[in-house]
Amino acid sequence: MNKFLILVIEDDAPVRNLITTTLKTHDYRYLTAENGENAILQVTSHNPDVILLDLGLPDMDGVEVIKRIRTWSNTPIIVISARSEDTDKIDALDAGADDYLTKPFSVEELLARLRVTQRHFALMKQEKESDIFENGDLKIDYAAGCAWLSGTELHLTPIEYKLLCLLSRNMGKVLTHTYITQQIWGSSWENDVASLRVFMATLRKKLESGADAKQYIQTHIGIGYRMLRVE
Ligand code: CA
Repeated sequence: MNKFLILVIEDDAPVRNLITTTLKTHDYRYLTAENGENAILQVTSHNPDVILLDLGLPDMDGVEVIKRIRTWSNTPIIVISARSEDTDKIDALDAGADDYLTKPFSVEELLARLRVTQRHFALMKQEKESDIFENGDLKIDYAAGCAWLSGTELHLTPIEYKLLCLLSRNMGKVLTHTYITQQIWGSSWENDVASLRVFMATLRKKLESGADAKQYIQTHIGIGYRMLRVE
């Protein structure tokens, strides 16, 4: 029995039914909400483990729902958007969403995102207080300010190291260009985004090259980057 409680916020009945049927089949517990106000109420009273949120709701913008939930809750939010425009996703991610799905999506896609979020959630709980981060062959000692790959110390520039720490501390979460450049440089001019690409390329070269290289960082074109969980 899957003990995870999922809140499905979606006003479109066929889509909502598809999601809840999928959840039921895979032993998730779930709640539903058809508008923003009701969704916020459900989050307050039931404290779900994961929130699936449609961005186009009848009473308020989904981004507004995220902002309000984020004032008191860190529950993972996966945004579901019918809109293919990247700006909506970016706004949602910057407001505090963790991931996104674009309609139409497959049942497999939905389940995969839920598994990623679940793993991320379990890990965050477990590693919250730890100064040591481990993912695949990568190890970071935040207190010492050092990182290793397969036991060999990585020689990173200060910016590369900051980027690596930011991504690792948010493993599983898609971080937007704006968020990353704000965290690293305190600003998000076009030049910063261009610099970010360069630093990310050099960081990835150090992390992901070699014979048995694994992929640690995923690029979301036009949106940002995410650190993947490496088994
Ligand atoms: Ca909708």
